[in-house]
Parts: sequence; C-alpha cells; structure tokens
Amino acid sequence: MHTRGIVMSSLIVLIGANGACSSEPNGGPTIRYATSGPIAGPAGEGHFTFGAATAAMQIEEDQPESDWHYFTAPTSAGGLGRGTFVDDASRAIANSEGDVGLMVELGLDAYRFNMSWPRIQPTKDGAYVESALAHYDGFIDSLVSAGIKPVVTIHHFSSPIWVDDFRNVDAMPCVPSATDLCGWDSETGADAIIAEVAEYAGMLAARYGDQVDEWGTLNEPVNYLVASYGAGLFPPGKGLIIGAPAPMIRAIKNYIRAHVAIYDAIKANDLVDADGDGTAAWVGLSLNHLAWTATRQRYPSEDPVDLAARDRIVYAYHRLFVDSVRTGGFDSDLDGTADDAIPGVTASTPRLDWLGVQYYARVGVTGQFRLSDIFAFTPCIPPLLTSACTDVAEESHCVPAMEYEYYEAGLYEVLVDYAQRYPGLPLTVTESGIATDVGRRRSEHIVRSLEQIERARLEGADVRGYYHWSLFDNFEWIQGYAPRFGLYTVDRTQPGYPRVATDGARTYGAIVRARTLSSSQRGRFGGTGPMTPETYVPVGDFDAYACRRL
Ligand code: BGC
Repeated sequence: MHTRGIVMSSLIVLIGANGACSSEPNGGPTIRYATSGPIAGPAGEGHFTFGAATAAMQIEEDQPESDWHYFTAPTSAGGLGRGTFVDDASRAIANSEGDVGLMVELGLDAYRFNMSWPRIQPTKDGAYVESALAHYDGFIDSLVSAGIKPVVTIHHFSSPIWVDDFRNVDAMPCVPSATDLCGWDSETGADAIIAEVAEYAGMLAARYGDQVDEWGTLNEPVNYLVASYGAGLFPPGKGLIIGAPAPMIRAIKNYIRAHVAIYDAIKANDLVDADGDGTAAWVGLSLNHLAWTATRQRYPSEDPVDLAARDRIVYAYHRLFVDSVRTGGFDSDLDGTADDAIPGVTASTPRLDWLGVQYYARVGVTGQFRLSDIFAFTPCIPPLLTSACTDVAEESHCVPAMEYEYYEAGLYEVLVDYAQRYPGLPLTVTESGIATDVGRRRSEHIVRSLEQIERARLEGADVRGYYHWSLFDNFEWIQGYAPRFGLYTVDRTQPGYPRVATDGARTYGAIVRARTLSSSQRGRFGGTGPMTPETYVPVGDFDAYACRRL
C-alpha cells in the first residue's frame, strides 16, 4: 500500500507547487533531497541528482550518414521510407544554448545525453569530424559553466550507416567492407564494429575526461536489439527472432562485448577526476525495465506456463546483461545458467560501476505461443502478438500515444529487486517519463515516480538520481513525432522550433529548485489513484491493447 494517507477532514486550502490555489489534500510526508553527488562510489551515497535525458538521434539535425536517416528517408531520396522521416529532429544543435537555458531554468544538477556517432564518424576509415566535435566542446563548456554535470551515453539506438548498411540487399551473404561491417549479428564483421565503437569511446573519453566523469556505455540494450535485430522495427530492420535465434544470440553477445570494450576504453582514456571524488570515470549501463505480467488472452494468468514465460523474459531483460558484465558468464540459451563466456570479464574484474534503471510501463507476456524454442515467451507487441497483451487495470493509466499502461509501483518493484539481487551496485533512474499532451499528467507522473523511488530508498535501495525523459519533445523512433515526452514542447511547424514549458516543467522545476517534494505536491499529483484522463483516439482499426478496462 502506498503511504498517501488521505482523509477528507484534512482538506485544506493549499498553495501548490506552481503557486496555484488548491483545495486538494496533503499527500504523504514531505521528501527532502540531499545535494547531487557522484553516480557511483562511496562519495555519492545518500546524495540525489536531478536531471533530464535525451539522445542525439532524437533531437539533433544534420545526421545524414545515420542508420535512422536512411531507414526513414523517403524512397525517392534513397531511404526505405519506414515510419516518419527523422529529418532535422528538434534542431538541438541550432538551439543548444537555449536548451542549456532550459536546464538552468529547471535548476537541474545533470544532463544525460549522447553525441552523434554518425556525425562524428560518418565514414569508417575517415578521420573524426572536428567540426562535429567542436559543437560538443562548446556544449559541454556551457553545461559545466552553468553548473550542470554532463553524463554521456556512448551508444543510444543509432549508428553510422557503415555499421550495418541495410541498403545492400543484393550483397548476401554480407561481406564486411569499409562501407558495411554487416551488423552486430555478423560472424565476420562484429569484431570490427566492437573495435570501432571502443576506439570512438576512447577518443571521447580522452577529449572530454577533464569535464565528464560519468559515462554510460549502451542504452537499453535488450530493447534495442529486439527492435533492430529481432523484430526489424528499427534499423537495420532484421527480423531474426523468428527463425534465426543463433544470429540473434550472437548479436546479444557481441553487444555485451561492446559494453566491455567501451568500458575499458573509457577507463583507459579518461584519466582526469573532474569532480574531485577520487575517481576519473564511473562507467555504467542503462537497462529498460517493464512490469512484466503473466497473461493469457488479455487477462492476468496464473498458468505455470505463463508464469515461467514471465520469469524468462524478466531474466532476459533485467538480468542477462548485468550478470554477464559482472561475472563474465554468458547464458546463450537463456535457461538461467551461463554456458559461454564474455572474454576478459570475471567476477573479480566486473565491468559495471553503476546501473541505470529506465521504466515506463506494465505489459503482458505469455508462454502460450512461443516465438521460438530458444526464447519461449511471447511479449505483448500490438498489433502483432496481442494474445500476450493485457488490458489496463484503470483507464486513466493508459498512455494513449504509446498504447501501454503506466503502473506506478513497477519502478519501486524493480529498484528493490535490484537492490536485493546486486547489493553494493548503485542505481540511478536514468529515464522515466510519459508521452502526453495533458500537462497535469506529466506532473502526476513525475511526482508518482519520485514517490516510488523514495519507497525504494526507504527500504535501503541505493538510488542516486532521477533523469526525466525527456528535456523536450523529440523523435520517438518508429512512432515519429506524435508522442510528446518533453518537459518542454517543441513546435516543429514554427521557425526555430520554439520550446515552451509544460505544466510538468513547472512542477519538476519547483521540486528540483527546492530539493523538496512537498506534502501538498504529493496530495495534488501523487499516489496511485486515477490520473487526469487523456482522450484515446485509436490509430487505424486497431483497438489499443492497454486502453480498455478489463
Ligand atoms: C529510450 C528513449 C525513448 C524513450 C521513450 C527509452 O526506451 O531510451 O530513446 O525515447 O524510452 O519511449
């Protein structure tokens, strides 16, 4: 049960976070936050960092040599025409000074972002592009002089086209070349990709190590690999889950090896302790988490087959990467026991200083129909595999733009699970957010997420920060520009792509600047009850799985 003790007699007139009068009740006790500290190591214990997160491909213009450019560009322009053309995204290069101003306005401690590998290294054998790096030189200077800690993710869902050039459909089997390394699943090309991404990470670590101490290697590796190599929804568009489990497993193992290589390259090249905590570089990994629920034909299920399927997918999503980079074992058949090895990693030489937890939704999983024997689970993928989907328990928790269910306690559950499973591993919520056009829902999401983090901290979980996804509206991958995750909206129809604060920005800014989540803010926005509703408009004929009540 949540601690929000609400009794009608406690109704009083309050001045809310945004200065608005409210007759809403107080929520749970006021939560006070210590100052920001390091993401890992003893000096960061007890501290809390407030931030926001973005990724280069989703916000920056001028990335013509990226996989997403070619994946989404019209066929008339040499692309595949998949989804919405990414185009110039939110023009974050042109707006970078103003965007730092937004962070200052919010009072943020830190900004988690990623640099554009495709723009910095558009050709495999060419030199890194100085003008591309010059932008990040100035941007990081601006962050640091504004007192905002830069936290850099090396690989966030996008690569230069030469990593896996999906336009070469005639050249099968793919033979690695200077213009196409054939992808993470390639038996012959992946070693070169790992070497390239590690060299790139080492270059960034050497260049920015005197200002950056906190690095993330990969973003949501399982989500990324399932979307790009498993289901073919992201570039390179390979659908290996059905029928080709061996290459899929190879891609997973290679991506884990890439994490290790990036980790080592950063440690070897960032030799300056920028924040004076005694360590030059803390290197971690951000994983996506879902509140996986055993289901069958849209209803929660207690069937042992579905429960086993749920446990198996939790293992694949939440533990496979962490276990591999902490112990050096690799479980190639996902049966819970390592049967292969990640070279160079042992339990006494783990490669993980901190773990990033990213959480958005509750979704279903069933064992009724197997994608393949090796995976033995079917996650909810509307509209393809709806037998695994589960309907939303309470309608206002449906997130219409993403067609999934927001479930507050899922964040608490995963944080506590990690704290118990991996004692001593510091946790930071590196992403949490909601796609909505209704400002108050974003305020509710922020307050409720912080409440769930506090629950976990009170139970001893070492959670050191919260990064809201996202600072401003951006390109939501295959869903294009319709979902709006921003604290600030971006109007792409207006010159300059102006940013405008949402109610969520006002609420988050008030919390961050005061380093306090007040009882009245909790009363207005918090808890686990119904949220401010948002109208659901079905896309096409498909009736979204999570937007109906059981
Ligand atoms: C990703 C972001 C994405 C966000 C919202 C995370 O899966 O890291 O790139 O935009 O979720 O869907």
